[in-house]
Amino acid sequence: LATTDALTGLRNRRKFDTVIDAEWRRALRQHTPLALLMIDADHFKAYNDAFGHQAGDQVLVGIAICISDSARRAEDCAARYGGEEFAVLLPGCSPADATKVAESIRLKVEQWSDKPGVTTVSIGVASITPVVTMEWSGLVEAADKALYTAKRNGRNQSVAATPASLSLVAYFLFVSDAPRIRPAETHALIVAKTGRDITCLDAGLALRHLFIRRTRRVPPRCALRRAR
Ligand code: GH3
Ligand code: MG
Ligand code: MG
Repeated sequence: LATTDALTGLRNRRKFDTVIDAEWRRALRQHTPLALLMIDADHFKAYNDAFGHQAGDQVLVGIAICISDSARRAEDCAARYGGEEFAVLLPGCSPADATKVAESIRLKVEQWSDKPGVTTVSIGVASITPVVTMEWSGLVEAADKALYTAKRNGRNQSVAATPASLSLVAYFLFVSDAPRIRPAETHALIVAKTGRDITCLDAGLALRHLFIRRTRRVPPRCALRRAR
């Protein structure tokens, strides 16, 4: 089975999914962080419309080169995640280190483009030290959410997910003594008590920790889904 993307030479999506699964489990065993960058070309539909699909393809190759140039450690894994979207896995990278790599990629793309303002990328950064109650899909969701923020804030920028909000939620839940675990109400309570609009995903993860701590059982999947 193919493991590389034909256009860019980066790993393909199938290979990436295998690698992130293995790296997540390794990071869990070794108590090390695992960082993920989600990179998306800005206004790429407009670029294709203006310069043609083949020119667009060349831009994707260029972005891939900028990525490979910045993520060069043997354990780093750069992949074409979807059409004009890339994913870079950086084992052992703290949020600060991962943000440096993201900015290096972003600036290379910006400088490489000979038509300034046309080809830029937005990058969502997340770094998590896994715990048994989490799945790697949580890392992808956190990076995706940060990417969405980067787009909304005007594109051509890197945004790091805030794990601080997660620990805040976890802390609040551990010290509170809510008698029952009711995700929607707990989420509202957290927002009211902390004055911060913590996302349902973060609240869901914190609730899983709480559930396990209280019951010593892994929560059923439906409980997690409701928490989101
Ligand atoms: P945004 O900044 O919000 O990401 O805007 P966008 O236009 O990049 O996003 P949108 O999802 O609307 O469009 C993605 C475009 O990427 C549309 C599609 O034609 C183009 N695209 C996806 N895959 C390829 C590809 O392999 N080659 C080329 N040339 N274009 C592609
Ligand atoms: Mg795009
Ligand atoms: Mg996209």
